[in-house]
Amino acid sequence: MDNCIFCKIIKGEIPSSKIYEDDDVLAILDISQATHGHTLVISKAHYPNFLSTPKEIMHKVMDVAQRIGQVEIAVLGAKGVNILTNVGEEAGQTIMHYHVHVVPRYTRDAGFQITLKENAVDKSLLPALANKIKEKL
Ligand code: AMP
Ligand code: ZN
Repeated sequence: MDNCIFCKIIKGEIPSSKIYEDDDVLAILDISQATHGHTLVISKAHYPNFLSTPKEIMHKVMDVAQRIGQVEIAVLGAKGVNILTNVGEEAGQTIMHYHVHVVPRYTRDAGFQITLKENAVDKSLLPALANKIKEKL
């Protein structure tokens, strides 16, 4: 797709630090390196995000993300890893081409914090909320 940074990387028009490539998937180091080894796993075909990517391709990207997480823990001394994918600008997505972040975590990470803080909600509303989602699955 024109003007998509990841499509340009896949076509070789923009340089990248590649760590894995097959027919459907490319993995590169994120240029911003939130932590040491921060990697992006990208579908070669252009789909806007995780939710709009065909299952088969989405699964292939996740397979590679799993493997890279395992290897980064083994070779970089990471103690853990965050696997995340942003969907939509409100969720922090800046490049609208499906990709998964693999973020190795160390004992003292300054560059990356992820904390899900509890929002004050009336817990008695949770069953109705669960039903609203469940009905459409
Ligand atoms: P997101 O905010 O989830 O859309 O993530 C996009 C990521 O792409 C950011 O973490 C950027 O640092 C990264 N990024 C942007 N341009 C490049 C590039 N040329 N090479 C590698 N990573 C990039
Ligand atoms: Zn693209």
